[in-house]
Amino acid sequence: MEKKWTIADSREEYHIGHWGSPFFDINAQGNLSVTPWAAEGPKLDLPTLVADLRRRGLEPPLLIRFNDILDARVRYLADAFRNSIEAYDYQGSYQSLLPIKVNQQRHVVERIIAQEDQYRLGLEAGSKPELLIATALLSDRKDQLLICNGYKDREYVDTVLDAQRLGAQPYLVLDRFAELDLVIEAARAAKTMPNIGIRARLTAKGAGRWESSSGDRSKFGLSAREIVECIERLRAANMLGSLKLLHFHIGSQITAIRSVKVASREASHLYCSMRKLGATNLTLIDVGGGLAVDYDGSKTNYHSSKNYSVQEYANDVVATLGDICDANSEPHPKILSESGRALVAHHSVLVFNVLGVHAFTQDTCAEVQKPTPDEHHLIHDIWEAYDTLNPRNFQEVYHDLLALKEESATLFSHGVIDLEARARTEAIFWATAKRIHAHLQTLDYVPEDLSGLGKMLSDTYYCNFSIFQSLPDAWAVDHLFPIMPIHRLNEEPKRQAVLADLTCDSDGKLDRFIDLRGHDNATLKLHQPGESPYYLGAFLVGAYQETLGDLHNLFGDTNAVHVNIRENGAYSLEHIVHGDTVNQVLSYVEYDCHELLQRTWKAAERAVERGELSLEESAALMKRYQAGLEGYTYLED
Ligand code: PLP
Repeated sequence: MEKKWTIADSREEYHIGHWGSPFFDINAQGNLSVTPWAAEGPKLDLPTLVADLRRRGLEPPLLIRFNDILDARVRYLADAFRNSIEAYDYQGSYQSLLPIKVNQQRHVVERIIAQEDQYRLGLEAGSKPELLIATALLSDRKDQLLICNGYKDREYVDTVLDAQRLGAQPYLVLDRFAELDLVIEAARAAKTMPNIGIRARLTAKGAGRWESSSGDRSKFGLSAREIVECIERLRAANMLGSLKLLHFHIGSQITAIRSVKVASREASHLYCSMRKLGATNLTLIDVGGGLAVDYDGSKTNYHSSKNYSVQEYANDVVATLGDICDANSEPHPKILSESGRALVAHHSVLVFNVLGVHAFTQDTCAEVQKPTPDEHHLIHDIWEAYDTLNPRNFQEVYHDLLALKEESATLFSHGVIDLEARARTEAIFWATAKRIHAHLQTLDYVPEDLSGLGKMLSDTYYCNFSIFQSLPDAWAVDHLFPIMPIHRLNEEPKRQAVLADLTCDSDGKLDRFIDLRGHDNATLKLHQPGESPYYLGAFLVGAYQETLGDLHNLFGDTNAVHVNIRENGAYSLEHIVHGDTVNQVLSYVEYDCHELLQRTWKAAERAVERGELSLEESAALMKRYQAGLEGYTYLED
């Protein structure tokens, strides 16, 4: 008897315990549940929330931001540093900073800076617009530091000095040596002593996708020679007392802990050496971002994972700094970190519905008939492959099959076989491929050259979202996000699928999915959609995706909601952010919707004059056109 599929099987299939713990799990109803305060806390049934949102008129795709998860991640990171500080008897303190660029959404930033006292974060700005946000939000909040990074001109520097006058605590970080004169000049003109930081260009490199952005040739940072010269120039300008911060950043998503250790060592020695050169007000060290998120749950140094925990990261930074400062008899600095994705990735989930399925094996691999004697010999050859296939020869048959398929295409191109004959060879090819694939399911090891067969035979699930708008990193840098159904998890998913988005672009697809073996799967197991909507969730999408997303095919921002979960498992919506309407995205590309309406109305009038539309038909057409302009850019029921 076939074993009944259980939610434990779904947990294993989608690895949810590996990437989702403690925030996501599967409940007894087979639905995805959100557990922001870990298993013993309240549980929110995600499909119920989605149904409620639809009843409120909010259509998928839906970006759901869980405020409680955001809070939990803030606390988790700060507590990890607090534990390390205690464990290693470190004398300095710690403050976390939100690099605004990781998620500039107002409600996210405001939530982050409004944490209770001991978890109060500062902000990191990397551009003028981000600086203007931070200036307004952090004025009169001296305990929440404002780290000012990025390429600077005089206006940028003056804005930082203004922020200081407004009661904020900004640090002007010299990212390039050329910024030093700008800062000295602006400070003199404003008669204000700024807090100055230096970003060091470490030799130590990050690890993972962004490794090449670090090291001796990195875009930002001062070399050892420039740091020494900077100290001398500041001393000469009577401003050495303003030098208070050493900053470094060795790239995002650092997959291997070794890189953190090496960079921390180099930066700690730098800190002590700068103090010995006379920069005795240097009391802060900012270790930048880079703390990775284990998107695939594999705990490896694969690019979408990391081989260390948050606690190990904090331990390495704190212990290294403490040891090296002690050895040099220098005081322990206050530690700042600009972890972006580690703070915000977990809190957002994108939920989208499946619109239709191209069931490849069902449609293409139908039963095939034995060829009649008068059919082309190629059809007989390919039939023989089909007919003689067995568990011992399937690899050889597969090779023959590929060669025969190629031959069929060549013969067709030269006019030797007709379209019907080609269709027959293709049908037998796919039927044989399906049989070979069935054999592969019984093997412990699948030979390399056959590993692509699953993808060749997979179904395509057409989904209501745009990868370019909602998961741009999956397209641009092959980043993996965990994706799974949010319901029916007590039912066996029997189809092997790839996902296609709504854009008319062959790149608009997802055919790489997480796998615990430290690489990726070409297909995702899904259920056959039925009468009611079938929903999938893309998880850990809270970092970078929204702002990096673009308007390809004019699919705009999705609807978004900010959810608070109550202790009894009920929820409240703190904010609803409606996605772009067609009107809005058209105005981004300079169309005037009134003019479009006028033009369409004139065309309808002409059609009425020609007798091709009745007055009623013209009125209904215009109503539809107008509703289209006012509607969501995605497909609505
Ligand atoms: N700080 C700086 C200077 C950065 O450039 C970045 C991003 O690359 C970050 C912080 C945040 O990095 P992450 O999100 O990997 O923690």
